[in-house]
Amino acid sequence: MNDSIYELISDKADAMLEKLRRTRRDLHAHPEMGWCEIRTSSIIADRLTALGYQVLTGSDVCLDEARMGLPDKEVLDAEYERAIAQGAIQPYAARARDGFTGVIGLLDCGEGPTIAMRFDIDALGVFEDESPEHLPAREGFRSENEGVMHACGHDGHVSIGLGVAELLMDIRDHLHGKIKLIFQPAEEGLRGARPIVEHGHLDDVDYVIGNHMGGNTEGYQIGLTHGSSLASTKMDVYYGGKAAHAGASPEKGDNALLAAATAVLNLQAIPRSGEGDTRINVGRLQAGSGRNVIPDRAKLEMEVRGSSTEVNRYMESYARRILEAAAAMHGCSCDIKLMGSAESLKSDPDMISYCERICTDKLGLKVTPPGSKSGGSEDYSFMVNRVHSHGGKGLFFMTLSPSKGTPHGKSFDFDEACMPNGVRAFCAMAYSLMNGDRP
Ligand SMILES: [Zn+2]
Repeated sequence: MNDSIYELISDKADAMLEKLRRTRRDLHAHPEMGWCEIRTSSIIADRLTALGYQVLTGSDVCLDEARMGLPDKEVLDAEYERAIAQGAIQPYAARARDGFTGVIGLLDCGEGPTIAMRFDIDALGVFEDESPEHLPAREGFRSENEGVMHACGHDGHVSIGLGVAELLMDIRDHLHGKIKLIFQPAEEGLRGARPIVEHGHLDDVDYVIGNHMGGNTEGYQIGLTHGSSLASTKMDVYYGGKAAHAGASPEKGDNALLAAATAVLNLQAIPRSGEGDTRINVGRLQAGSGRNVIPDRAKLEMEVRGSSTEVNRYMESYARRILEAAAAMHGCSCDIKLMGSAESLKSDPDMISYCERICTDKLGLKVTPPGSKSGGSEDYSFMVNRVHSHGGKGLFFMTLSPSKGTPHGKSFDFDEACMPNGVRAFCAMAYSLMNGDRP
């Protein structure tokens, strides 16, 4: 191993800042929701191809039947037209149509370990701040897709991923092993990681590394966590009943609204678990058709979370029992649709100290001591757990900057100057692992 390569990695990452910023701002102005990241996927595939990667797109990325929470066909068609109008690149756009978004770039550098790196690419249904205090509004790259916003920093993740792709290609003569750059769709709602895992893309991976933007006020550049993101299950529940005249013959109806309302109140009453933290939320409830009609249908959108995969499973099975019992009470049918899920995420402890060592000693970055608190969920957990299941090692780290607003809020923004740090951390770890260093 050659220490001057780390200097080269650092210099190249710094020199990329303007390019990373341009990419990020273009993506920020054209945010796309999960399974609709057609323009985004086409840009990624085009750039990776130009760099010389072998590129997987379309149904070669996500296993068709493992995809969860797909929008309706009309939405997917409209999103395709929108993406084309906004300059999506062919033939990649056509490959991403019908919810086959996501891209994987492969680089074979001979004998050595297989390193996967994961970058999530989707945006959120948030109406972006228009006020001049919000930098994207002030500098002219606010979302052009009203009601959709990169409010979680995934525009930065894509930009970092493309920077990593370029830099690793530059130093490929010094790399020994295989690289897999996974640009994952539909992270929001926890829908996109599992179909990639189910396709088998993590089965031959020795090390998997993922990152997320994080806020910071004390000058730290890289954040470490033992990775206690919450396991979670997202469900849509459909109650079916029978309509009847509310005045003349209410007894002839089966009241789906009552079933749903009974379920909601009892879901909140699930006993807490002594085995860990739990969460439950019904975020949306729609029912009925009019004042004087016994409601024949109801739909609720809900989620449960748990600090471990087991505690989350407890919440999910208790919730399912309540949902079905509430239907039975009122003679209604109950159809539960799985919309997304994640397991709890724990980085390999050796990978945490390894990341700290490389980032501190080789790159001179300021790294936080590993913390543990997290209220979020990450479906990257499926990738880490699959790699752990066959003896590999997984890591999740944070690229930190003094960010503005709160994640998923309309004024969220991160400091673009942090992006080269993400690029150099990924590349330095890949270089070191591919040259015999071991966590
Ligand atoms: Zn996110």
